Amino acid sequence: MRLILLGPPGAGKGTQASGIVEKFHVPHISTGDIFRKNIKEGTELGNKAKEYMDQGLLVPDELVVAIVEDRLQQDDCKNGFLLDGFPRTVKQAEELDKVLVKMNVSLNKVINVDVDKSVLVERAVGRRVCKTCGATFHVKFNPPKEDGVCDKCGKELHQRADDTEETVSKRIQVYLNETQPLINYYKDQEVLATINGQQEINKVFEDIVAALGEK
Ligand code: ADP
Ligand code: AMP
Repeated sequence: MRLILLGPPGAGKGTQASGIVEKFHVPHISTGDIFRKNIKEGTELGNKAKEYMDQGLLVPDELVVAIVEDRLQQDDCKNGFLLDGFPRTVKQAEELDKVLVKMNVSLNKVINVDVDKSVLVERAVGRRVCKTCGATFHVKFNPPKEDGVCDKCGKELHQRADDTEETVSKRIQVYLNETQPLINYYKDQEVLATINGQQEINKVFEDIVAALGEK
């Protein structure tokens, strides 16, 4: 299964990704996670990406495309993958198409997680993530059993540096300008499935599985 999760920041892509990778046994490729890992490790890529991420801007296409192209060549992507947060511009989508042609594969579905813009800031600002295992929670909508502690691995939860109201608002604007056009791009390719992301997390997952033609 070769999939893309598309949607604005805070739509629930990462949350749904964890269920999808478990069910379909495909690697989860989140470009945001790759950048955050590089920032943590202090690599050159991380330092460059941080300048843009801190401002809520997109990292330049050349940097992102090179990373994804390299990642898709790895052995674990032979039977499929889940791209989360990539592509984010029409240029990235066009470059991805070229990579897929080279690999002689095509996309099964692009899942567009549709959420009204009015709820995105609250979702992102209340997001708490586990830096150790990657699990995502929300202080109000999906709280951990114990405040500030990851249910899955027991480590401390963190708020992302770019999950402030100001930066999230900027990221939503960037989404509307740069990423939203991908909805039509993939509609034209007849691979788009739009899912109502404003339902219970489990119901969103059920709808995704149904859109993939699975039970
Ligand atoms: P994205 O990866 O699209 O930016 P996340 O999956 O990290 O979004 O979700 C953003 C925040 O919203 C998280 O705190 C998450 O727990 C919460 N969330 C995800 N899905 C839902 C949902 N269906 N209803 C309410 N809150 C949700
Ligand atoms: P995310 O974890 O998907 O919310 O992404 C966090 C930040 O990483 C974004 O606001 C961008 O600055 C950067 N980023 C992640 N994926 C991409 C991408 N495909 N293109 C450009 N920038 C990206």
